[in-house]
Amino acid sequence: MKEILKALINVFLKMPQGFVVTLKHVFKKPVTLDYPREKKPMAPRYRGRHYLERYEDGTERCVCCGLCAAACPADAIYMEPEETPNGERKAKVYEINLLRCIFCGFCEEACPEEAIFLGQEYEFSDFNRDSFIWRKEDMLVPHPRKDNPFKRIIRRVRRVYGVPDAAR
Ligand code: SF4
Ligand code: SF4
Repeated sequence: MKEILKALINVFLKMPQGFVVTLKHVFKKPVTLDYPREKKPMAPRYRGRHYLERYEDGTERCVCCGLCAAACPADAIYMEPEETPNGERKAKVYEINLLRCIFCGFCEEACPEEAIFLGQEYEFSDFNRDSFIWRKEDMLVPHPRKDNPFKRIIRRVRRVYGVPDAAR
């Protein structure tokens, strides 16, 4: 008898209570995203995948100076230089091992040419370990990005005076 009473309470009292809670949320704006169709915009200071920048004329900014590799605490950057026909220096080989990288952004900070930067992308998971060695060709942007001139000035000032950038 006690069991039957308990079942009746569940059906006629608890279940409608549950439906009311569900109905209340049906008309509310969802707090979740329909990932991967919808993607959450990352914070401006988020550091995702690496890119290698070009100048306006399409030439590579990186002069293979090695400062980014020297600054990298994870020893994740490897490069070999070469000389262009007009006597300039550029990277013949430029690789980043993303399995070692801790996405600290020190390479970006160290680069005197503003050649390397960390973007906002975070979807580069893979099943193959070799695919995490990113070559120069994987990172070179097709066109020079439209940079925010104010951000560039702030970065230069920060570099000169050693001011930590809280807004990045
Ligand atoms: S983000 Fe940091 S760990 Fe990754 S390559 Fe640059 S300096 Fe190295
Ligand atoms: S990315 Fe910048 S710091 Fe690194 S080798 Fe190229 S020019 Fe030098």
